[in-house]
Amino acid sequence: KHLKKYFSIDGGLFRKGDGAVHAVDDISFDVYEQETLAIVGESGCGKSTLGRTLIRLLEATGGTAMFAGQDIFSLSQAEMRPLRKQMQIVFQDPFASLNPRMKVADIIAEPIITHESMGRSERDERVAELMEQVGLRRAYGSRYPHMFSGGQRQRIGIARALALQPKFIVCDEPVSALDVSIQSQIINLLQRLQEQNGLTYLFISHDLSVVRYFSDRIGVMYLGKMMELGPTNEVYERPFHPYTKFLIAAAPSPNPHARHQEKLILEGDIPSPLNPPSGCRFHTRCPYVQDICKNLEPATQQIEGRAVACHFPLV
Ligand code: SF4
Ligand code: MG
Repeated sequence: KHLKKYFSIDGGLFRKGDGAVHAVDDISFDVYEQETLAIVGESGCGKSTLGRTLIRLLEATGGTAMFAGQDIFSLSQAEMRPLRKQMQIVFQDPFASLNPRMKVADIIAEPIITHESMGRSERDERVAELMEQVGLRRAYGSRYPHMFSGGQRQRIGIARALALQPKFIVCDEPVSALDVSIQSQIINLLQRLQEQNGLTYLFISHDLSVVRYFSDRIGVMYLGKMMELGPTNEVYERPFHPYTKFLIAAAPSPNPHARHQEKLILEGDIPSPLNPPSGCRFHTRCPYVQDICKNLEPATQQIEGRAVACHFPLV
């Protein structure tokens, strides 16, 4: 609730206003157990920061995050420890996130060594099982990350994230660095693991076609704000927020003949998050802008089971 993450700016060159980037600026939402909630938006909109702040890889500037009945932002690191196991992250670049000097089995075992007192043989068996779960042969455990393809490296990253049997996984653009032909394999793997292990995903992506296929609900971010949040199919069929409409219209459609939605062309670039527009942050690019949009930030309203932050939703 009211999640905020501001970054202060060091160095004079970029200093404007209060000198802080409001990367996540007062966002409230729920994540339901065993769902996939996708967070979409153009790069720089704050979606990665949102994911990292939620699981306390970054400390929030404000707000609360309830997990298993506790506000995790108010816990000490020691109190956080048992919960930390239940929240993991899969990163975009599987190569950058794997230590090149460690064998794959050791990479996957690392969280177990840190968090659990498990004997060597039990741990080895657990690592081998994890490798099989993500579709890697046990024997590969003695190899190094550079010996694997991008897709296999992402499987290693996913095995490591599963090592502590988490409940909640932030997937931060997990297929964006992969060839399109490999993307669906990894998505299918994530889906299968979700069913087998009862996982809940926060799935961060800029790829609207991947998200449509994969997510239950979708949240659309723009310059640190949540513009619209609702069931994926409903949002795609009939976006209520002008920005959502633009994002969907701009995404390549899997079936070009099914394209019935009117095109929406946006003027101008994304404004700097250092000095976001007054009122509605989207007003400098919105084709539906009215005077009130420039001065008054729209409150988030509930419309047909969706959260929409716009003075003139497209209903
Ligand atoms: Fe466009 Fe106004 Fe809605 Fe913002 S509040 S999205 S400027 S119509
Ligand atoms: Mg990102």
